[in-house]
Amino acid sequence: MSDLEQVIAALRAAPSVAVVAHMNPEGDAIGSTLAAALSLRDAGKSTGAFNVDPVPPGLQHLPGISELRRELPRDPAFACFLVVDTSDLDRTGGLIGAHRRDAVVLNVDHHSGNTRFGDANWVEPTASSAGEMVFRLLREGGFPLSKAVAANLYAAILTDTGGFQYGNTTAESLWAAAALVEAGAMPEEIGQGLRAHRTLGEWRLLGEVLAGLQVGGGGRLAWIEVSSAARQRAGVGLEVTEDFIEYPRNLAGVKIAVAFKEVSADEVRVSLRSHGAVDVAGLAKVFGGGGHRNAAGCTVRGGIEEAKARLLEAAEALLG
Ligand code: AMP
Ligand code: MN
Repeated sequence: MSDLEQVIAALRAAPSVAVVAHMNPEGDAIGSTLAAALSLRDAGKSTGAFNVDPVPPGLQHLPGISELRRELPRDPAFACFLVVDTSDLDRTGGLIGAHRRDAVVLNVDHHSGNTRFGDANWVEPTASSAGEMVFRLLREGGFPLSKAVAANLYAAILTDTGGFQYGNTTAESLWAAAALVEAGAMPEEIGQGLRAHRTLGEWRLLGEVLAGLQVGGGGRLAWIEVSSAARQRAGVGLEVTEDFIEYPRNLAGVKIAVAFKEVSADEVRVSLRSHGAVDVAGLAKVFGGGGHRNAAGCTVRGGIEEAKARLLEAAEALLG
């Protein structure tokens, strides 16, 4: 049996399934979670959708979003955990931990550094997104593809391919997207939902952050920082700054873009993006994080100035 067939067989056998993805979720994590939970429910199973962190505003329109819970109930226990878009069980933020005991854990992911933590593991680093994999899983498993399921999967693929523009976009991703539109996903409505939710405070914060954009490494390295103070002045959460890194990334000549986001005086969340062959997943790994070649992240203990000094030095060294 292939890895995919093993996952399908385990899902067919499970009467109840909890679907879970990584913390600090984005469109691929949430879209894949909801799609799987809704489809498996349509197939007659008892299902739940869980994420340990708050859902960013751009994902509030996804069908089924009101069912997402931040904590797993102790009772009734789920027979199976389907973990999507998650390289390591720790990245679920402790959501499964104590609940794992008698449950089957299924791991469906596209991170190359996946630790194969499941009882069955289907890991495809060449897949654009977990959404593209869940689409294949549902189709090959014969699980129902309702309009709501299709919308979630379309949003998932759209997110991780940067709107079908990143290097991970393949013919397979576009075939999947076409099939999802055929199944009822509405590109305009979904795209609008993901984009058109900004508050004035968010754009004011973006203005302030962009005013502080810095460049180094002969123009090949660009970085921004989001301080807690600036965020508090704007009255917004960390999750709304997720895409700010697109600005340094899109600066002409830049190979590596970095966003430093101050969580507290002692913790900085770092987002890394790169173009082409420059591998920021390796860079993130040095600092205890991970991700994909062109999109990765890590969390660094200590103050933001120290985090900047360490990360930027390593990034410059990577550029050579
Ligand atoms: P982000 O910059 O937070 O959007 O993350 C980009 C990519 O890096 C995603 O695939 C994340 O799953 C991954 N990533 C971010 N932070 C971490 C971390 N601390 N450990 C492992 N992977 C991470
Ligand atoms: Mn993903």
